[in-house]
Order: sequence, then C-alpha cells, then structure tokens
Amino acid sequence: MRLLRLHLKFMAEEKELRYDPAAIEPKWQERWAAEPKLYAAEPATSGKPKYYVLEMLPYPSGQLHMGHVRNYSIGDALARHMWMRGYNVLHPMGWDAFGLPAENAALKNNTPPREWTLANIAAMKRQMQRLGLGYDWATEVTTCLPDYYRWNQWFFLRMFEKGLVYRKKSKVNWCPECATVLANEQVVDGCCWRHEDTNVEQRDLEQWFFRITAYADELLDGLDKLEGWPEKVRTMQRNWIGRSEGTEVDFFLEEVQGSEIRDQGSDKTRIRVFTTRVDTIFGATSVQLAPQHALVAAFTATDPDLHAKVAELLDQQKKAREAGDLGAIEKHGVPTGRFAVNPYNGARVPIWVANYILADYGTGAIMSVPGHDERDFEFAKKYGLPIVEVIRPAGQDTPAELPFLSEDGVLVNSGEYDGLSCAAAQELLQEAAARSAFGEAKVTYRLKDWGVSRQRYWGTPIPMIYCERDGLVPVPDEQLPVVLPEQIQITQQGGSPLGRVPEFVNTTCPKCGGPARRETDTMDTFVDSSWYFYRYTDAKNANAPFDRAAAQYWFPIDQYIGGVEHAILHLIYSRFWTKVMRDLGLVVNDEPARRLFTQGMVIKDGAKMSKSKGNVVSPDDMVARYGADATRMYALFAAPPDRDLDWQEDGVAGVSRFLGRVWRLVTKYAPVAQAGSSGTQDGGAAPTGLSLKLLRKLHQTIARITLDFEGRWHFNTCVAAIMELVNDLQAADAQLAAGEVPAPAMRELMRSLVLLLAPFAPFLAAELWEQVGGEDSVLHAPWPKSDPDLAKEDELEIPVQINGKLATVVRVAAGADAKTIEAAALGDEKVQSRIVGKTVVKVIVVPGRAVNLVVK
Ligand SMILES: [Zn+2]
Ligand SMILES: [Zn+2]
Repeated sequence: MRLLRLHLKFMAEEKELRYDPAAIEPKWQERWAAEPKLYAAEPATSGKPKYYVLEMLPYPSGQLHMGHVRNYSIGDALARHMWMRGYNVLHPMGWDAFGLPAENAALKNNTPPREWTLANIAAMKRQMQRLGLGYDWATEVTTCLPDYYRWNQWFFLRMFEKGLVYRKKSKVNWCPECATVLANEQVVDGCCWRHEDTNVEQRDLEQWFFRITAYADELLDGLDKLEGWPEKVRTMQRNWIGRSEGTEVDFFLEEVQGSEIRDQGSDKTRIRVFTTRVDTIFGATSVQLAPQHALVAAFTATDPDLHAKVAELLDQQKKAREAGDLGAIEKHGVPTGRFAVNPYNGARVPIWVANYILADYGTGAIMSVPGHDERDFEFAKKYGLPIVEVIRPAGQDTPAELPFLSEDGVLVNSGEYDGLSCAAAQELLQEAAARSAFGEAKVTYRLKDWGVSRQRYWGTPIPMIYCERDGLVPVPDEQLPVVLPEQIQITQQGGSPLGRVPEFVNTTCPKCGGPARRETDTMDTFVDSSWYFYRYTDAKNANAPFDRAAAQYWFPIDQYIGGVEHAILHLIYSRFWTKVMRDLGLVVNDEPARRLFTQGMVIKDGAKMSKSKGNVVSPDDMVARYGADATRMYALFAAPPDRDLDWQEDGVAGVSRFLGRVWRLVTKYAPVAQAGSSGTQDGGAAPTGLSLKLLRKLHQTIARITLDFEGRWHFNTCVAAIMELVNDLQAADAQLAAGEVPAPAMRELMRSLVLLLAPFAPFLAAELWEQVGGEDSVLHAPWPKSDPDLAKEDELEIPVQINGKLATVVRVAAGADAKTIEAAALGDEKVQSRIVGKTVVKVIVVPGRAVNLVVK
C-alpha cells in the first residue's frame, strides 16, 4: 500500500515535469473560444496602423491536409507577430464552398450538396480551432450561402450593364450517354468518367463570358508595379496574357477553276495570318491552318481523303490538350493541294493543315518561314518544304546558318525591301499592307475572355431570364438573390440539373409579367473566389457586397499567402475583378494584394501526398501524437517556406521534445522571473559575465526573428535561432540555479523567450506567459525590441585571406577601425609565416567583415 502511494506520488511529480500538450492545448482552446473578440479586427478609428494578412480560403473537402496546415501556420505566425507589434490586424477565414465534388458526393452517397458541404465546413473549422489558428470567425465567408452569392449575381448584372458580360456560342464537352455537359475533369482519356467507352463529343452551346480581355493591357502593365509578388508568378501571368505585337496579312486564295469556295464570300477568298515577323514574309514557303479553320471545312467537304487526314490531326491535338502537353505536341501536317498567294510578291505557296496551329491563337493561320523560325524550320525539314534566306546579319556577305532567328540583321531576297533593317522593314511592310488593304498592324493576346457558364447544379445561378416577348431580361436587383433550390435530384443525366426543376425554371418576366424561363447555367466557382476577400471587411452587410469605407481602409491586402498553383487563374481573375470594382466606384485600389507569398508543397518520401500512394499524413494524427504547437512549428521549421517540405515524423517528435525543454526551463525559473519584476536588485547596473552573455544572445535572436518577419520569412532559421538560445540557457542551468543571473535579467530572458515563441507555438506561449506572470493575453504583449548595444559582440572574428585563400581568423574589438584590423592581421603569426620573403602589394580591409592581402 505504501509502495503504491509512493509510486503514485512519483508519477504525479513526473507528470508535473512533463510537457503535456494534450492538457495545455484544449485548456487554451476553450479559453480562446470563450473570448471571440481576441482575434477580432478593430475599427478604423483604433488609430493603429492596419495589417491585412490573408491565406487563400480552402475548398471544404472535409479534411485539412498538410499543405493547408503549412499555409495557415505561416499566415498565423505573421498575424500574431503583427498583433504583438501593435497593428490592427485583419486575419479572416472562409470557404470556397461551391463546386463539383459536392455534386459527385451527392451522386455517391445520396447526400444533398448543401448538407455535405456544411458538414465538411464544420469539421474543418474544428480542425482549424484545434490547431489554434487565430481567425476572426465573425467575418467568416461561406460562398455557397445566398447572403454571399447574391453579390456574385449583383456583380454579374453590373457587368452586364457595362457590356462586360456577353453570350456567345462556345464548345463544351458532351457525353451522349449522359446527355449532359461534362467538366474538363470529368473527361478521362477522351471518354466520359461514368461511361468509360463513350467518347466525349464537342458541342456548341450558348455560354456566358466576362470580357476580361478589355483589361488585358492593364492586367499586364500592373504586373510591373507588383514588386511584392514573386517574379515567377508575374512571369506566369505575363505569359498567360501573352501580348504580342505584330501584323495581320491576307494571303489570297489562288483561284481554282470551278471552285465553289471562290463564291462563298470574301472571307473565303483570303487567309488572314498573324505574324510578329512580317519582315520575313518574303521567306514564307507555306501557309498553315489550324485543323478547325473555317477554310479547312470547305476544303474537306469535297475531299474525303483530306477529311480523314484532318480528323487525325484534330485527334492528336485533342489528346495533347487533354494531356496538358499542347506545347510539346509532335508536329504533323497534311498538304491540302491548294495554294495561296503572298500579297507582297505574288509568290505561290502551298496551303497545309497542321496539328500544332491553334484555332484560338491569332487568326488560326500562320505563314511558315523556315529560314527564320525554329518551329517552321523543323516542320520544313520534316516535310521537305523549301527553306529561303531573307534576313542576313548586318555587314555580312554570306548567309548565316539557318534558321537565323535574330532581328539584328538586314533583309535580302526581299525585293524593294532589301538592305533595310528588320525594324524598318516591319514598319514599311505594315504601311504597305494598310495602304493596299490586305493587312494591318495588330496586337494579339493569348488571354481569352472568361467563360463562366457551367452546366452544373452546385454554383451561383446566373441571374438572367428568357421571355418569348422581350428576349433576354436581367433579373432586377430587388429580386436577388436567385436562390439555388435545395432539394434536387442529382443524376448527371439529361442536361443541366436546374433545368429539371420546374419551380426554378418557370418564372414571370420582370418586364411584361408573362411566363418566362430562368437561365439554368451556374457560374464558374472562380467567380466566388475573385472577390471574397473584400467581403471579409464587412461580412454581414445585407445591402451591399461590402462597405466602401471598410474596403478602402483594409485594402490592398498587405500579405496574401497561398499555393503557386493559383498563380494564374485565381490571381488574374481577382485582379480583373478589382479593376472592375474600381470602375464601378466600389474600391479605390487597382490591385487586390500588395504582397504575395507562395509556399512550397508538403511532400512525403519525395512524392506529393496522395491516397493512391498511401503516403498521406493526417494533421489530426500529428496533433493527437505531438500537439498542435509541435505540428505547426515543424511545418515552419523543416524547410524554408517557399520550398517543398518532406514530412518526417521524427522531425515533429524532435520539435515536440524541444518544446518540452522550453516548458521545463521556463517552468523552473518562472518564480525567479516573477520575483524579478521589482527591478531593484541590480540597481540598474549594466549586465556583466553570464548575464551579459545570455542577454546578448537573446537580443541577437530578437533582431534576427524581427528581420525575418519583415519580409525575409526564413521561419526555419527563426525556429533554429530560438533553439540555440534555449541551448545556451540550458547549458548555464547550474549557474542559473545558483542564482548567478540576477532576477531582473532572468525575468527578461524568460519573458522574451516566451514572446519569441508566441507566433510559432501559441498554446505553449499562452501557458508559459501565465506562469511568468504575464499580464493580459500574450497576443497583446508587445513584441520584444532588440537593443543593438546589447546585441553587439565585444570582439569580432575577422577572416584574413591571402591571395584569395583563407589564412587565419583574427579577433579584434567590435568597432575597431581599418588600421587596427590591418595591424592585427599583419601581426598574426600565421600571416607572418606566409608573407615572409614576399611583398605585400595591397591590403583591403572591410571593417567588421574581412581582410584581404595581395602578396607577391
Ligand atoms: Zn456519360
Ligand atoms: Zn417579357
């Protein structure tokens, strides 16, 4: 009995000394939940500088993955740091809640999409709260709820009024078996995902488009000003917009005796090509058409053999497109047997159809100049087409090796244009084309208008009505929102799901009051995420998407954080949306975010985490085993935030052990730290000895971490710096226990250590802050300031190089001048032995950094 009691007592003591996140973390989670204002932004009148930190909102799949944990740990560390720096911080979270998976889940489990989605949101919100992420849930935005998507509809109507929304026929994927439209991700190897042996067809359907191309130039030019965005993202957007300046030129279709094509109107008598190098046009040896080009259909109509060959090209193009490999397609072409005439010199060139010519770029037709274009050269070699030199390096008598690609040259074999520079020739050739009305200068873009129609259920209904008398009628504002019906059978059959809900489809015309039909398409879910971050500034507004003054106060976003996979679509659409809102008078900023950070992926064993590979690490497991603090801190520690992170459970365990050491250290010295508050023991004397050594380390650590939060973001080295500091403190444990460091210094050391940890391990920091007698919440404690005098070393180690090679390291007083450093270097024994019998030609001293000797 006595033994047992002893054993229990021992266990209790042991427990007291053990870091136990499973006890600490739920305790604080509960306290924070009872304090909803803790992470709330203050009004603009707070007088504090504002800071808007935002992580990309997740799709509510039902489970956070490690990529989320990493993304949110970065944003949360930054938000906490800025709170401690005295900023008014907006740090919101929401849900990108519309989309296809909810419909697929409905099909699979017979759960209504809304129910499935809201349950997933609740589950993920629980996970986020367990992780201790400091979001202001009062501003939560859920895009699938009518109080949000009604504003998508409102924006759609405003854009319709401004001519930024229009309808046109466009291709969709159609499964004849399902009799419905498929999303791109539902097309698997060219077949329907539900009917593996049914080929998906392309059908023309009336679709809604946003005229994003109206902003193409502004979207492009604005990139130059986004200095806080990664260069790779800006480059990707530039390429996506794909502006190129060039010339459109008509090659005339050679008249064919008895041809019907000649009679079909003027657009069938010429082939308009787009080129950025009209100066090379005398070297064109063929004209090439995209397989979808209107003329090709005319050619193949009377030529079954050609028809079959073109069908093959189309097939190759489609396969490459599906594989996402269009740029690397193996080039094939077929001659049509027809000819076109170069308008500048009357040269007759064959017309080909080629699989690498894209119908939606330029005019869907090119002139092929093998002498001066890599791709054309390759194609001409393959098919034996002539290769003609028309540009020669300036001042050279003999041809350059072809293809010669540079524009730094002069024209040859180009008639009256011979001898002109490429630039001068381009200008004159453009003028000639305009004069004779067979062409013009032209700027083209790769960027296309944004097709937003989706023949899906789980999205924002498009607020348009079709009346037999009045045609297309926009839904009046006072009838918004057009609510998505909730009880609906998802069958993936027979067209748009909303089309099978008569209560939805049948309505009254707002103009004439007669019977009318609603549009049954819903909006692309990228619409939802294009402006959600404005809604956070005024999430409960029932009369407007948001209050202008609130948006003006908070925007632009100071730091946006998310995956690089959103570098193009999401970020271009949101930039477009901001510009539209600006032109509607809703905001004054041109761009949504001042700074963007794209974090690397979380991988496992060198591969992306995926169910099929069986290498998924669940955040819940990690939190259960090691705690939220260790999981979050590991996500920041294991790699620089912009690089990929290979998840190692050993590493999480290591961080957890480190946090245990911090916990024991601070717990042990908390009473001394508390006693240090009277501040009288040292009489204000400057610290010396061990105190000085530890305080110096502390202030160096503060300086380093503060700098990282100001933009370097090497959070991995921040955590490493805290570990070094803790090592130094632990190494001095015996002296600390003996009271060698006075209480005020102990107080500063312990409290600052806790404050430095707060952005990375918020639960442990809160617990320890209480122990060291911290007032209020650690979140409101001021971030420690580094004292540069205290952080400065007494002595510096200066490397000395002789003829570029490290010879030795000398110690000098910090702040020593160049002369003193030079004398120390030249007086060093190792240096002396190396320069004996030689001449020192030059001594270069970089004070505080290095000495270089040049010796002969
Ligand atoms: Zn199907
Ligand atoms: Zn009507």
